[in-house]
Amino acid sequence: MNMKKKKLIAGNWKMNGGIAANDALVRAVVAGMGADAGCQVAVCAPAPYLAQVQMLRHGSALELGAQDVSRHEQGAYTGEVSAAMLKEFGVRFAIVGHSERRQYHGESDALVADKAKAALAHGITPIVCVGETLAEREAGQTEAVVKRQLAAVIHANGHCISEIAVAYEPVWAIGTGRTATPGQAQQVHAVLRAQLQAATAHSDRVAILYGGSMNAANAASLLAQPDIDGGLIGGASLKAADFLQIIAAAR
Ligand code: PGA
Repeated sequence: MNMKKKKLIAGNWKMNGGIAANDALVRAVVAGMGADAGCQVAVCAPAPYLAQVQMLRHGSALELGAQDVSRHEQGAYTGEVSAAMLKEFGVRFAIVGHSERRQYHGESDALVADKAKAALAHGITPIVCVGETLAEREAGQTEAVVKRQLAAVIHANGHCISEIAVAYEPVWAIGTGRTATPGQAQQVHAVLRAQLQAATAHSDRVAILYGGSMNAANAASLLAQPDIDGGLIGGASLKAADFLQIIAAAR
């Protein structure tokens, strides 16, 4: 990794929030970040609140992200939100392939790859989530699983692959308070880095984030690893004080 590359801290609010809570949270984060947070910061809000967060963040360094995007451009796809629509609201990032979508909505590697492609076509950085379940880890399949998940996205996106971000999120660490150790995370990040290096000469552009119970207490040791370029933060992104401490750890 280029040592000067800024880290990326992205909050994943999931299906949390509300008009009043978002207002308080975004105002506190923007005020706490100041003009230069020393890293890139984004919040991925539920779709109905994108316009609200876009207004609240206006003029600040806080970036806006979505939690999903349709693989389709437009048309008869009830309930879907297109990349073009997200772009109109100033969205810079879109999470794709989060394990909760793979698990509860049956999203396949191929669908996730298409969603990444749709985002890239509109200048939105897809944050491609990969990660193994506990059973897969215990069966020694961690590397094979994350490589398969990333390979689908590489295959579908060709030379554009340098424009994605990746989030390694071990499923057993999400929302459980059971974080991967810095060593465990680094090991997988190195595998992903090597896979990206083999796919593009511009792999140093790709931020590889860690996600899964990252919090104010453990962020610094995770972010100190050579191949951890930032974090995708769920629970701890809902409390301004915690999120700001993670941002401070990423400077
Ligand atoms: P968590 O979620 O930080 O609450 O574990 C992370 C994620 O699912 O993106």
